[in-house]
Amino acid sequence: MDNKTDIKSLTFEQMQSFLAELGEPAFRAKQIFEWLHIHLVSDFDEMLNIPKKLREKLAQSSEIRNVKKRNVLVSEIDGTRKYLFELNDHNLIESVMMRYRHGNSVCVSSQVGCAMGCRFCASTIGGLIRNLTTSEILSQVYEIQKDTGERVSNIVIMGMGEPLTNYDNVTGFIKLISEENTLHISQRNITISTCGIVPGIIKLSKESLKCTLALSLHAPDDAVRRTLMPVADKYTIKEILCACDRYFEETGRRVTFEYCLIDDINDKEIHARKLAALLKGRNAHVNLIPVNPTPENNFGAAKEHDINMFKKILEDSGITATRRREMGRDISGACGQLVRRTI
Ligand code: SAH
Repeated sequence: MDNKTDIKSLTFEQMQSFLAELGEPAFRAKQIFEWLHIHLVSDFDEMLNIPKKLREKLAQSSEIRNVKKRNVLVSEIDGTRKYLFELNDHNLIESVMMRYRHGNSVCVSSQVGCAMGCRFCASTIGGLIRNLTTSEILSQVYEIQKDTGERVSNIVIMGMGEPLTNYDNVTGFIKLISEENTLHISQRNITISTCGIVPGIIKLSKESLKCTLALSLHAPDDAVRRTLMPVADKYTIKEILCACDRYFEETGRRVTFEYCLIDDINDKEIHARKLAALLKGRNAHVNLIPVNPTPENNFGAAKEHDINMFKKILEDSGITATRRREMGRDISGACGQLVRRTI
């Protein structure tokens, strides 16, 4: 994949300069941009109103980075679709489409593998292979929309990878997909999830984006957090909350705290009370997720009565908490499992 321009990652302005450099008239930029981001074509030859000569010229100087569907598992319970995609260099990633009453939501990956090492997560077991380009993140949404013939209205960046360590490509993705002459998905319907990269959160808060920040907290204090997430050695919960407060102040968007409930590790009354104290007075929302056990870890999902107790303690302290609906339980395996099984 030499030094060809990655044409699907270009902003509209960059597309204009790119075509100007090729000596082409300005209206071609709009046409090509729309072929890529509205008609979702994966080949220059599908660009019907572009002359053959120009299509050849484009193919010589640039490439369209796509993802190819290798497998899709469909849940019989709720219609959730889990995709295994192959990249141009044959690496594999996962994406998921969930059907909700308010629309279709796609969970995209931001990296091949992950460097963060969270103990409960299957995506990180082989380490980080590489960042995904903006075009490869976009292509996950595009292929799913084409495959189902249904509009995607929400996006969560919660698949494989840590989005804030692939900052430019991920923010490039958010900007492109929310633009007017693309799929035009509202930034309010996009959630970016992070394990707590503090400088990344602060940088993101200054982008004047309107997306929701989800913070993977998973523990009410640093000691427990360090046993689950190596990143906790780098940033304390206090620093993370401070950065989240900044995000809220700058964007007006309420932060969601993700909390994976793991049997006997972080799901007892004392943890719930500590978490309530930590978040009290903040405009925060807690999303409780019973951990998805994987063959590689020994964690068990929290028991039903512990989940209910945990939620009640938070709510009694005035903190809104939801239990995340477990979609596609029959096909799932946790984050990263499909890729691992395939490898
Ligand atoms: N790196 C980012 C986004 C990818 S992980 C982050 O950490 O937020 C997306 C979410 O899935 C995170 O909240 C992560 O902690 C959670 N997750 C990973 N493995 C899980 C498992 N086995 N069970 C439940 N949640 C899991």
